Amino acid sequence: MDENKNYEVIVIGAGVIGTSVAYHLAKLGCTRVLVLDRTQIGAGTTSQSSGILRTHYSVIENVRLAQTSWRVFDDFAAYLEDEEASAGLVRCGYLIASPDGPKLDPLRASLESQRAMDIELRYLDAAEARDLLPIARFDDAALIGYEPQAGFADAYLVATGFARAARRRGVRIVEGVEVHGLRRENGRVAGVETSQGRFNAPVVVSAQNIWARDIERWTGIASPVVPERHAVLALEGPQPYTFRMPVYKDLGSPGMLYCRSYGGRQMLVSEGIVGETLSSPDNEQGDIEMDYMVEVGAQVAERFPSFGEAGVASAWTGVYDVTPDWNPVLGPLPDVPGLVVGYGFSGHGFKLSPAVGLLLAQSALGLPTEVDIAPYALDRFRTGGLLKGRYGLGAVS
Ligand SMILES: Cc1cc2nc3c(=O)[nH]c(=O)nc-3n(C[C@H](O)[C@H](O)[C@H](O)COP(=O)(O)OP(=O)(O)OC[C@H]3O[C@@H](n4cnc5c(N)ncnc54)[C@H](O)[C@@H]3O)c2cc1C
Repeated sequence: MDENKNYEVIVIGAGVIGTSVAYHLAKLGCTRVLVLDRTQIGAGTTSQSSGILRTHYSVIENVRLAQTSWRVFDDFAAYLEDEEASAGLVRCGYLIASPDGPKLDPLRASLESQRAMDIELRYLDAAEARDLLPIARFDDAALIGYEPQAGFADAYLVATGFARAARRRGVRIVEGVEVHGLRRENGRVAGVETSQGRFNAPVVVSAQNIWARDIERWTGIASPVVPERHAVLALEGPQPYTFRMPVYKDLGSPGMLYCRSYGGRQMLVSEGIVGETLSSPDNEQGDIEMDYMVEVGAQVAERFPSFGEAGVASAWTGVYDVTPDWNPVLGPLPDVPGLVVGYGFSGHGFKLSPAVGLLLAQSALGLPTEVDIAPYALDRFRTGGLLKGRYGLGAVS
C-alpha cells in the first residue's frame, strides 16, 4: 500500500456515495484524497440497488437533491468529462398512480410541488397511461402523474464511473482496508486507524451506509440507522416489459410496489414499505420466503393481469440504511470537528448520489453548499424537525 500517510481528506466507503464525494472533492481542487473500503468499490449495498431515478418525492428537500442529481445522470459522460463514462441510463419515464383513498391527497400535493419547481410533469388519464404501459391496468386510478425525465440506471456503473474519474484527478482509492477507528487530537479529527495502519487527515467523510453505527462506537454520538433487508424479484411474464415502458409506482397496492423493466419479458419488482430489520449490519444474501413471493406475485397480478402467469426468473435481497424518518443524515457532526457524514439513505440514495457527493465535498472543504443541507442535520432527531414523507414509512419518502 501507498507509503503516503498524509491527506487533506479521507473518505470511508467506496459505494456510490463515497466515490461521488471523492470525485467532487477532486473536482473542487482537493486531490490529496484517500478513499478506503474494506471490500471493493460498489460491493456494498450499491450493487444491490434497483437503480430507479425520479424526482418525485413528497419531501421537498429530496426533490431538490434529486433534481440536481438528474442533471448529472442526464449526461454523465459530459459531467465526468469522460466521453466513455456511462451511467447505464434508461430514460423510460416514471408513472405514479393512486386510487381514491389515503394516498390520493399526498400524491396530488407532491405532484403540485414538483410542478412548482419547474419539473416536467404531466397528469394522464387511464387511456394515456395504458398507451405508455399497456401491460398494466389503470381503471381504478384517481390520479396518475408522469415524469418523462426519469427512468433507471446502473448504480454499480455510476460508482465505478465516479471512482475512475476521481482516480484520473489524483484521488487514491484503496480496497481491502478496514477502518477501525477515528483519530482525534484536541477534539479535532486527525485521521483514521485501519487494518493497514494509521492515516492522517484533518477531515474525514464517513459514507459507510449500514455500517455507520461504527461512528457511534468511535465517537459516542448516536447514529440512528437500522439495517433493513428488502427483497427484489425479477418476474418473467408472457408479455414484454420493454425499456421503452416507464417505471411504475403503484400507490394503490398494499406494498406500494415499484416495478420497472428488467429487459425482455422481465419485470423487476419490490415493495416500497418497511422490510426486515437485521440485528447487525450485513449485506449478504438473505432467504426469500415462498410466502413473500406469492404475496408480491398476487399484488403484481392485480395490476398487471397477464403477470398472473409469471414465474420468478431471479430474486435477491439488499439492505437499506434506514433512519427514523426514512431520510439521510448529511453534513458535519459539530461535536467532532472535521467529521462529515452521509448515511441513512433509507433505500433511495442512488438517485441522490451526484448531488450528495457534491454537497458533502463542499461541506468537507468548508465551502458554502450549493443546496442547503441543514434540514438533513443529525440534530433533527433531537429537535423534532423530522423530514417526514406524506406517504408514511417507505423509500418513496
Ligand atoms: C434492494 C435495494 C434497492 C434499491 N433501489 C434503489 C432505487 O431504485 N433508487 C435509489 O435511488 N436507491 C435505491 N436503493 C438505495 C441505494 O442503492 C443506496 O442508498 C446507495 O447505493 C447507498 O450507497 P452508499 O455508498 O451509501 O453505501 P454502500 O454501497 O453500502 O457503501 C458503503 C461502503 O462502506 C464500506 N465500509 C463501511 N464501513 C467501513 C469501514 N469501517 N472501513 C472500510 N470500509 C467501510 C463498505 O464496505 C461499503 O462498500 C436501493 C437499495 C437496495 C438495497
